[in-house]
Amino acid sequence: MKKKFETNAIRTQLERSQFLEHSSPIYLTSSFVFEDAEDMRASFAEEKDRNVYSRYSNPNSSEFIEKVCQMEGAEDGFAFASGMAAVFSTFAALLNSGDHVLSARSIFGATHGMFNKIFPKWNISHSYFKIDELDSIEKLIQRNTKIIYAESPTNPGVDILDLEELGKIAKKHNLILIIDNCFASPYLQQPIKFGADLVIHSGTKLMDGQGRVLAGITVGSKDLIDKIYRFSRITGPTLSPFNAWVLSKSLETLAVRVDRHCENALKLANFLEGHEKVNWVKYPFLKSHPKYEIAKKQMKAGGCVVAFEVKGGLEAGQKFFDSIKLLSLSANLGDSRSIVTHPASTTHSKLSSEERAETGIADGMVRVSVGLEHIDDILGDIGQALGY
Ligand SMILES: *Cc1c(COP(=O)(O)O)cnc(C)c1O
Repeated sequence: MKKKFETNAIRTQLERSQFLEHSSPIYLTSSFVFEDAEDMRASFAEEKDRNVYSRYSNPNSSEFIEKVCQMEGAEDGFAFASGMAAVFSTFAALLNSGDHVLSARSIFGATHGMFNKIFPKWNISHSYFKIDELDSIEKLIQRNTKIIYAESPTNPGVDILDLEELGKIAKKHNLILIIDNCFASPYLQQPIKFGADLVIHSGTKLMDGQGRVLAGITVGSKDLIDKIYRFSRITGPTLSPFNAWVLSKSLETLAVRVDRHCENALKLANFLEGHEKVNWVKYPFLKSHPKYEIAKKQMKAGGCVVAFEVKGGLEAGQKFFDSIKLLSLSANLGDSRSIVTHPASTTHSKLSSEERAETGIADGMVRVSVGLEHIDDILGDIGQALGY
């Protein structure tokens, strides 16, 4: 019988060792031994499916990868030391000099940096499409376009892209569709269902969910993952066994944690909507969100991030942050601790103010990653900070 999401997250585990441990042990070993000369030869010739060296594979990362593959409905995957290692290695493994990437304009700051500052060195170019103008994508496709790339919900503006629509465009033009699914987590959204070929996560966010480790993972079709695996076993961006163990344990509680994140976030969004000190609030599962219907179609719930703008611009924004008492001023998200961030002066400070405006980031905009504290305390802190 096909098991459910929550069950797979808990019951997918390594074979027990001679100690019959209940919880998976940590395999802190850089290499593995061979039985004899023939075993050594066959292992290196990849005639055997076994662990050889932890840059290639390790039991703990294999367990983590297997869980995420089941969650995302993917054939295979590879786990990385950080979300950016996953993003970079995925692109670098699939692209050649002269290739072109078509990406949504609203993407993670470092991914934007990779397209702008790193890829030109290897003659890899990109164009951005506006997330509200999916029909403009086809006009931007070039002879050398290979990949369509997007995030949904976006950071930090929590805009929603129609994944099904993107999937159709990618298929029609025979392009590889890659979705960074970090803001949703595999519990809320599975982009492969809508036509994505590869799904990337920063495991640092909701997957770990407790702000402890950095990690990344890419999952998808076997043939694409094989290219990413070949690239990565040579270049070495691999996740450590210890962090893989942490992540695999974290996934056991992903569903209950994300349910509560979303419940708290929706309550905060409702509280902020119509608040006299707030210009606007955006959350995918608020009816006022411009893409509410699409969010409902492709997500189970709205996620942990709420964006809003404090009335009074930059000065009022800074006053708000200086008045926060309980929540953390930090740049992470998807943590059990609620976090408030000012994108204009932090994650997106490298963008010009014009570029920021294009991405929908107002100076007084606040991004809240709603955590697992009691909702009354979260509302209490944000409420008092709005009143100063
Ligand atoms: C954080 C993040 C990344 C990068 O992940 P790291 O683990 O910090 O390297 C990539 N994409 C999105 C959407 C993110 O939020």
